[in-house]
Amino acid sequence: MTICANCGRENPDDARFCNVCAAPLEAVPSSREQRKTVTVLFLAEFLASAGRTNEAAEALERALERYERKKNLAMVAQVRPRLEKLRAAVSQPH
Ligand SMILES: [Zn+2]
Repeated sequence: MTICANCGRENPDDARFCNVCAAPLEAVPSSREQRKTVTVLFLAEFLASAGRTNEAAEALERALERYERKKNLAMVAQVRPRLEKLRAAVSQPH
């Protein structure tokens, strides 16, 4: 589901223009997808702060794979830097 940034109406994922106002829909992630990313980033933050860095990295890896498969580049851009930071933390002994 893609939310129109102009009028806020939901449109099919493969729609390129809003069915209601005809605004272009590309590169605007749906609010639901956005919330899911925020949730996974929050979860990773929580796990990492609890010393469960491996689990945090795994959660982000799963999310990243999903977004790469869907070519959701806005989400990939949000998740990838966080994952790289966690991987760096995992590989460093305490
Ligand atoms: Zn619209």
